[in-house]
Amino acid sequence: MRIDIVSVFPDYFRVLNLGLLGKAQKRGIVSIATYDLRDWTHDIHHSVDDTPVGGGAGMVMKPEIWAECLDEVLGDNEDANASTADASGSTVDVPILIFPNPSAPLFTQETATELSCSSRRLVFGCGRYEGIDARVPEYYRTVGRPLTADHGENAPRQPIEVREYSIGDYVLNGGEVAACAMIEAITRLLPGFMGNPDSIVKESYTSEPLLEYPQYTRPTTWRGLAVPEILMSGDHGRVDRFRRDQSLAKTAVIRPDLLGQLECAKLSKQDRKTLIALGWTVNGQHPRKA
Ligand code: SAM
Repeated sequence: MRIDIVSVFPDYFRVLNLGLLGKAQKRGIVSIATYDLRDWTHDIHHSVDDTPVGGGAGMVMKPEIWAECLDEVLGDNEDANASTADASGSTVDVPILIFPNPSAPLFTQETATELSCSSRRLVFGCGRYEGIDARVPEYYRTVGRPLTADHGENAPRQPIEVREYSIGDYVLNGGEVAACAMIEAITRLLPGFMGNPDSIVKESYTSEPLLEYPQYTRPTTWRGLAVPEILMSGDHGRVDRFRRDQSLAKTAVIRPDLLGQLECAKLSKQDRKTLIALGWTVNGQHPRKA
């Protein structure tokens, strides 16, 4: 997967060279390039923002600077007509342009899973100040990226998929941290990223809308706190059941909204018993708090 990131703080993304993501880059599973938006400015102050039309506090990022930069980054046209599916069914190379935005749909594990296989190329545009002029996403969605070396307004263009995502109901200073979060969540799902691919199968939010059970390691007693006895029994069936019950109980307390998304028809007899004991009814399509 190729990832391009545009920001006024490209140094932010050095963190992506650490840990598993750093290794994945060295192994060629993912390549990440960053661009400084100010390189596309023309004035002596390298300004990328202006006052909001209609008044109000703060500054808004100028559309023409963003467009000059994005035209160049998105206009890598070797793959311009490669909108067909590859052997795995994923659409290749045509970039998906993503703008982190607190007033957008929430980025979830489902989004990460979908993006990890829907395109081999993602481009992130990180806003600052009050955000980017709203015409920028609209332009690339409807008019698109340039298809020739001439990036001018009259160049032939290809509309591309443009997404906007929030990483949570709070406001950050800029899109950099949000882009890092999304990039980590997406890339760790790429084939070959994890040494043991099983480690991403049974995680929170992954195969079901549930939180993962608590995990423990050695020593089995630490500062007077012992790990649950059953985990040392060697009885895999009982361990699995214990963990499943812990997962259901934890989700019921912390994220009852998730528990309500489970499909009753897919629950085992023991799952139902556990949920009933936790005060839920399981006779409808989804569990409900009794
Ligand atoms: N005026 C905007 C609002 O009230 O919705 C907030 C702009 S914020 C200070 C500047 C930039 O940070 C945004 O353009 C976006 O790129 C990023 N950002 C802030 N919070 C975010 C969040 N929760 N999720 C994704 N991006 C966020």
